[in-house]
Amino acid sequence: MKSVWISVDMEGIGGVATWSHVMMTGVEYERARTWMAQEANACIEGAADAGASRFCVNDSHGNMHNIYADEIDPRAELLVGTAKPWYMGEGIDGGYDTCFFVGYHGRAGHPKAILDHTYASRAIYECRLDGRPVGETTLNAYLGGYFGASLSLVAGDGATCREARDLVPGVVTVQTKEAHGRFSAKVRHPSRAQDALRKGAAAAIDAAARLKPLVPRGKHEIDLAFLTSAMADMAELVPGSRRSGARAVAYAARDYLELYKALLAMVRLAPTAVPPEQ
Ligand SMILES: [Zn+2]
Repeated sequence: MKSVWISVDMEGIGGVATWSHVMMTGVEYERARTWMAQEANACIEGAADAGASRFCVNDSHGNMHNIYADEIDPRAELLVGTAKPWYMGEGIDGGYDTCFFVGYHGRAGHPKAILDHTYASRAIYECRLDGRPVGETTLNAYLGGYFGASLSLVAGDGATCREARDLVPGVVTVQTKEAHGRFSAKVRHPSRAQDALRKGAAAAIDAAARLKPLVPRGKHEIDLAFLTSAMADMAELVPGSRRSGARAVAYAARDYLELYKALLAMVRLAPTAVPPEQ
């Protein structure tokens, strides 16, 4: 019997293509937040059919209270609310066997990814891990690995699915759309995306028997480029960080949880520099 921790972001949900779907206000957002719950539920149904028995859904978008508690499958616990100390990774330390990332999107600076960003579009220009530009999929997968959970399913746009397969060969991916630009995509009908997720989640539970957790070994360095130098000034307040450029701050650690916490601290500090200088 497997236990599953499911992180649900919004930009990569089937049907979503523009800021108005994800900005936490308005009629389009109200519609899209229901699709979020439906995709999570499709995963729970598929995984339960394949034998999984314990589920935690971490609402991982924006202010992190998008999913209505009465819309989620009652078999799951829901982590919802602002502010979560570990943000998209909240609850991942709860002893789960495997992780699903649903509604995920491409990294900040990807040339063809829907609503591309990494953690904070109003602060982060690019995030590098050991010199390589990475997105939330990679950063969160290593956090799961740190706590002994494999990554067995990733759903989102094409860029996200490719990032996941490069990172974890054998991971099940469910593509919900292909970006035509940052604010446009050819989207699958939400019901089709949910059908694919039901099947994908069942396949992921089988795959989880073979997949090893992505354990972060040795020393790793995160290098964050911000939109302005003032944001880097604020991020540099994190003890142990290093100013790696006019707009960039780096942090290195052997312990990946320490690295992740430094990343989150910088992500939260940097926007306090706004309004930007003229
Ligand atoms: Zn995101």
